[in-house]
Amino acid sequence: MSEPIDVGTPGTDFIRQIVATDMESGRYGGRVATRFPPEPNGYMHIGHAKSVCLNFGLAQEFGGACHLRYDDTNPETEDEAFVLGFQEDIRWLGFDWGEHLYFASDYFERMYECALVLIDKGLAYVDSQTSEEIRASRGTVTEPGRSGPFRDRTAAENRDLFARMRAGDFEDGAHVLRAKIGLASPNMLMRDPVLYRIRHAHHYRQGDDWCIYPLYDYAHCLEDAFEEVTHSICTLEFENNREIYDWVLDNVGFEEPRPHQYEFARLFLEGAVLSKREITPLVEAGTVSGWDDPRLSTVRGIRRRGVPPEALRLFCDLIGVAKANSVVDGGKLDYSIREVLNRSAPRVMAVMDPIKVVLTNYPEGSSEELDAPYFPHDVPLEGTRSVPFSRELYIERADFEQDPPKGFRRLIPGGEVRLRYGYVIRCTEAVHDDDGRVSELLCTYDPETRGGTTPDGRKVKGTIQWVSAPHALDAEIRLYDHLFLDAPDDEAADDDILARVNPESLVVVAGAKVEPSVAIDDPATRYQFERTGYFWRDPVDGVGNSLVFNRIVTLKDSWGRRAEVAKTDVAASSVSASRPTGSAPGDRPAVSERREAARAADSELAGRFQRYADELGLSPEHADLLTGSREISDFFEAALGVHHAPVAVAAWLGTDLRGLRGERSLTDLPFGGEGLGALAALVADDRLSRRAAKDVLARMVEEGGDPAELVSEMGLEKVSDTGALEAILDEVLEAWPDKVAEYRGGRKGIVGMFVGEVMKASKGAADPQTVKELLTRRLDS
Ligand code: ATP
Ligand code: MG
Repeated sequence: MSEPIDVGTPGTDFIRQIVATDMESGRYGGRVATRFPPEPNGYMHIGHAKSVCLNFGLAQEFGGACHLRYDDTNPETEDEAFVLGFQEDIRWLGFDWGEHLYFASDYFERMYECALVLIDKGLAYVDSQTSEEIRASRGTVTEPGRSGPFRDRTAAENRDLFARMRAGDFEDGAHVLRAKIGLASPNMLMRDPVLYRIRHAHHYRQGDDWCIYPLYDYAHCLEDAFEEVTHSICTLEFENNREIYDWVLDNVGFEEPRPHQYEFARLFLEGAVLSKREITPLVEAGTVSGWDDPRLSTVRGIRRRGVPPEALRLFCDLIGVAKANSVVDGGKLDYSIREVLNRSAPRVMAVMDPIKVVLTNYPEGSSEELDAPYFPHDVPLEGTRSVPFSRELYIERADFEQDPPKGFRRLIPGGEVRLRYGYVIRCTEAVHDDDGRVSELLCTYDPETRGGTTPDGRKVKGTIQWVSAPHALDAEIRLYDHLFLDAPDDEAADDDILARVNPESLVVVAGAKVEPSVAIDDPATRYQFERTGYFWRDPVDGVGNSLVFNRIVTLKDSWGRRAEVAKTDVAASSVSASRPTGSAPGDRPAVSERREAARAADSELAGRFQRYADELGLSPEHADLLTGSREISDFFEAALGVHHAPVAVAAWLGTDLRGLRGERSLTDLPFGGEGLGALAALVADDRLSRRAAKDVLARMVEEGGDPAELVSEMGLEKVSDTGALEAILDEVLEAWPDKVAEYRGGRKGIVGMFVGEVMKASKGAADPQTVKELLTRRLDS
């Protein structure tokens, strides 16, 4: 495998210094115990990975242990699938918790006992004010809070009430348990913080055993203390919470050496969405294929794209551990991936956009095997494979130029180029098809140049990749790029997130040709396709005989440059974002050359480009994409004619339809732009969810048809008319008489279960908010 990569010795960041000092002083008797405490309410993302690398890394470096502890004290959001997801992703990253797997919810009983200690010491009380009253009496940053009427309850009274809270005697919100610290602290979090609340909810592990749940500030420090954690590391937002952390442990009676909390900067990654709240709408709208979509910054997505775990660890080492928040340049991750793959990935040949080459002087029907090394000289790995060579080959279309620009070093009419590991060839004629496009190159090869050397010493400047046509394998290649056109902003509504999706974040190349060796290797091999980038077979769609490759990363950074070009003067059609000579074919400029040329030749298209950007408010990328040909632009215009919502229609056309139609042209589809407009209108009118609309669109692509009719045929109408909903409600309430009784007996929390049942019965077509309103009205009557 790859050489270990030296990224400097850890032990220099401030957390490591603290741990080192504690080790030296013997504060914990030479023991180090850290923990990684995810809340199982989503899948792991790259920010979590940073925390995993830090906590597990510390334990490894100092010979200690790192606990995996699920912070599952919040009943409603947790899920077993997420629990397993974290374990899988942590193992993949290369870390192991050994026997130290814990669930915070297993400590509920002990936490309860600690609360009794506080009550008996007069340091906690049951407050029966409403949450609004509690908030109002807490004061402000400039004004101290006021004591409420229940603050001076006796310990006996508090014990009794707290026991009855636990026993389920009260409804949600009737009482809380609060710490009795003081209402004048400059730290708002210290003004008699709430420790427990009543929540009649089902817990995925504890079932219905508990109806009081501890809050984070109370629970987390106790979990650390129960497990004898030494260094409890969390992100900066928790700085003010440290005071409660210490207060609880000291007052419950944990003596030094007890755990202490330290804060470090959270990871923010340029262009990435790292929170569940932002990823969920993308998954639900079908904009990404799931939590493991390779464009997402989830660990599942990163894994599926083909990033090796070493690269993610290297990235975490590179960004380091700091005390101040900052946004990390996305290029750093790519750099880390290249660093690792450059030293480990075998080089093979693939052609993305093939053009046929016929070697007219090579004997017909014969072929030979060439010995080709997998690694260049500077990579300390060995291995070769044999590559078939024959009379008919494929090379990249971009490696031939009829009218070469200055400095073009590849194939030109009459010129020579070297085929990697093969022979030197000379182009004698370019054959054109009826449209004037080059369809085939007739060349001769120089038999004296096997292996690429020229015995006569003549200079051949360029070397290009190729594959033998009869031996090549067909492959689908997925090129991934930044998911968003710009950095997502926290305030943005879900719709805005969808509209900002980069229409070229996934480009599927269907007709690629790869050398046959890739089919016999281990499917998990990550390759460098020479001059193109790093790739591996998609672990979901690329199994068995199906050759589907994901691009893991390009060979060089191209995004920064393209983003610059896009920013400067895209509206002026003078943009020259042409591909620099020698750049890999996988790189795409902000404004494609081809579409640029189409506009130069058609003033109507050029005019539309301006209008889309200036008047319709489309991004330059969308405007460019939609004016590359009359075909796409007319389709867009027709859709707008039916539903004038340019951004939404552009997203449908550029992202969803683009993915669904594959290589088919728009004119070959069984419906026109009007159909797409009508579909978008149904979504805008709230008659159809965006998720369901995507299914309708898939049907339309296959069979055509009127969207409204398809919606009713497929049973996808959003159920919002209350008549239909009431009927479903009746059924559900009838089916669960016990639960209805429980609800009426005070377990209001189970309304969520009813909502779930109604949603299921309506096949997801009902609006959950309306359902909830109707349900509560019905149940409370
Ligand atoms: P999210 O809302 O994105 O899931 P979170 O902080 O609620 O984030 P938790 O599951 O509670 O996620 O976090 C588990 C651990 O991972 C915590 O110790 C937390 O500090 C850490 N963590 C989460 N996000 C980041 C991040 N972006 N950078 C560094 N550490 C993070
Ligand atoms: Mg969270």
